[in-house]
Amino acid sequence: MSGIVILGAGQAGASLAARLRSKGYTGPLTLVGEEDVPPYQRPPLSKAYLLGEMERERLFLRPESFYAENDITLRTGCRVDAIDCGARSLGLGSESLVYDKLALTTGAVPRRLPSGIGGSLDGVHVVRTLRDIDRMAPEMTAGRRLLVVGGGYIGLEAAAVARKLGLDVVLVEAAERILQRVAAPETSAFFRALHRGQGVDLREGVGLERLTGEGRVTGAVLGDGTELAVDLAIVGIGVTPATGLAEAAGLAIDNGIAVDAQGRTSDSHIWSAGDCASFPRNGVRIRLESVQNAIDQAELVADNMLGPGVAYDPKIWFWSDQYDVKLQIAGLNTGYDRVIVRQGEAAVSHWYFAGARLLAVDAMNDPRAYMVGKRLIDAGRSADPAVLADPATDLKALLRA
Ligand code: ADP
Repeated sequence: MSGIVILGAGQAGASLAARLRSKGYTGPLTLVGEEDVPPYQRPPLSKAYLLGEMERERLFLRPESFYAENDITLRTGCRVDAIDCGARSLGLGSESLVYDKLALTTGAVPRRLPSGIGGSLDGVHVVRTLRDIDRMAPEMTAGRRLLVVGGGYIGLEAAAVARKLGLDVVLVEAAERILQRVAAPETSAFFRALHRGQGVDLREGVGLERLTGEGRVTGAVLGDGTELAVDLAIVGIGVTPATGLAEAAGLAIDNGIAVDAQGRTSDSHIWSAGDCASFPRNGVRIRLESVQNAIDQAELVADNMLGPGVAYDPKIWFWSDQYDVKLQIAGLNTGYDRVIVRQGEAAVSHWYFAGARLLAVDAMNDPRAYMVGKRLIDAGRSADPAVLADPATDLKALLRA
């Protein structure tokens, strides 16, 4: 009994399994995951769940009965040690699990601070798994001093939750500005002002030198020599794609498990989707860390495992919640040379252009700008920057133009 095995029981793995069944695959189907819980949603972890506003049960993507009802063998708490491409099998300790086709949806792992600079002290947290949050949440109590390391979305979301819970928050970003990797200076400025307005001591252009403490973190030394007293730390310094098993098995790796447009790896029996997979788009190879990509790419791969190949053409979007601001992002801003600011009364949006081509939009409390931008970008259309920048323009008219 071999059939299809999916390695990685996160959003991509769960979507892939469900899609295989909904598309009529009736053979054996096994979903293997290292975590000891069924697949769950990650985005709320650093937002509503950490804040205590979302029940644990609501995180799960499907009720446990779903897997049995759909004849999906869900193996949680199960660590795979190796992939043997020749034998088409996975090694799990002394057991081996054979497959006809394998999908790798292994996701990404958070980068950690090295132990040598205090990364392994108690009270130092990362934000990735339910377990990470369940460990961190009891420490998030009013009046405690939190150091957030890294000003990407993870660090900023954690800072926002911590302020809402009444902690004192210092956030350090080593780069010259927060969100430098993913957003324009205009968007960094918006979130800098938001966080400072909420009382976060936000410091840019200063990295962490080391965390200090005996057993548990009690302090930090910053790159500029500043010493801080710290009760706990949250480290949000990015993730790395989980490629270890694929690499050891000899699969092509290129900023992730390299797949073709259809989601197939360099081994024709193995596919990959989600945070761990890099795929070709417009002549370059990209990797997306988003729930949209995890679902859409996994569903496409499921279809391609069962039938003729279709190329992946992602409709890219992301979002983040911080305090009362909902940020929605459509498109990818890579290669932009100009940003147009559209300032409304409560809403603001930043539109990224490369020449005359609209690439992406960051919409802050501006669902209409997001919706219009997304539809234009998905359709490969652009808009006149001068018209966009004029707050009097009816954005919806742009769709009709
Ligand atoms: P995430 O998904 O964790 O938010 P990003 O890569 O978008 O990941 O953001 C991580 C941020 O952390 C980057 O802005 C990076 O400059 C910052 N960073 C990395 N290492 C350090 C460090 N040692 N001290 C402070 N900031 C750091």
